[in-house]
Amino acid sequence: MIEYAIGVDLGGTNLRAAAIDRSGRMLDKISGSTNFSEGRDAVLGDIVSAIAKMREKHGGMGLSGIGVGVPGFIRLKEGFITGSNNLPYLENFPVRDEISRRLGTFVVLENDANAAALGEKWMGAGRDVDDLVLLTLGTGIGGGIISGGRILRGAVGMAGELGHITVVPDGNPCGCGNRGCLEKHASATAVTAMARMLHLGDDVTSKDVYLLAQQKGELGDKARMVWNIMGEALGVALATLVNTFNFPLYLLSGGMLPAWEFFEPEMLRTLERRSFTYKVTKDETRIAQAMLGNEAGLYGAAYLPWLEGKSSPVPVTR
Ligand SMILES: [Zn+2]
Repeated sequence: MIEYAIGVDLGGTNLRAAAIDRSGRMLDKISGSTNFSEGRDAVLGDIVSAIAKMREKHGGMGLSGIGVGVPGFIRLKEGFITGSNNLPYLENFPVRDEISRRLGTFVVLENDANAAALGEKWMGAGRDVDDLVLLTLGTGIGGGIISGGRILRGAVGMAGELGHITVVPDGNPCGCGNRGCLEKHASATAVTAMARMLHLGDDVTSKDVYLLAQQKGELGDKARMVWNIMGEALGVALATLVNTFNFPLYLLSGGMLPAWEFFEPEMLRTLERRSFTYKVTKDETRIAQAMLGNEAGLYGAAYLPWLEGKSSPVPVTR
């Protein structure tokens, strides 16, 4: 009998799930959409039937539990999602317990970026360390902190909201109520907004800005300026993180990684200028790209039942 867990990644419009065994081998993966417009019961029904199908295929006996990664703030003790723009139907409702009740299985609910950070620690770019920070650069910016091999959650489960740390005191307003949040200055949304302001096009994507940055001439200069500003914002945030944690590894993930060559120089310059800890620990502090892409969240979610459950955690492969 193969011992496995099921990791679920619930996005704004899509639902993905994977069955992963204790050695980190992915046995099965599905992705589909959910009927978010049809309300809570339809969404829960989709989640439960996707998991049930997988369990049927791989056998109920070997299933250790289910981890569910969701965008938004989590109230860990209650198993609630709160403050999620993407999943209004599941807010302030005992999501974890309801899934657990319907399937009769152990369920752990977690913020999606926290799950991704754990996935990178278990099977990705962070497998050689016990402490790391992950920043997921997407339309927003998510963050996850792994300390001593576990997710650093804080009192309620809301630690690691790194997209909302202030990098520009009077910067762009954010939906969270603050101004100058990292995600308002370094996300894909921020990059395209800057590109529009510089007249690089009305419907540019961050990929377009990356392609433009490879060109010579004025358009290329402007696109490179966008990546410089974005890199500086990331550098400010990383300086705070390095000063706070002195961890060996800080990972970036997301669709903007191809533009790494354009934002990395200013990111590292800013980091070195603003963090004494970084300056004197440069050889022991890595700022690197994550490895697992959008599968990190599935790996991390699947690892959760072993980490949080009664059975002993998986030995870490070094
Ligand atoms: Zn914010």
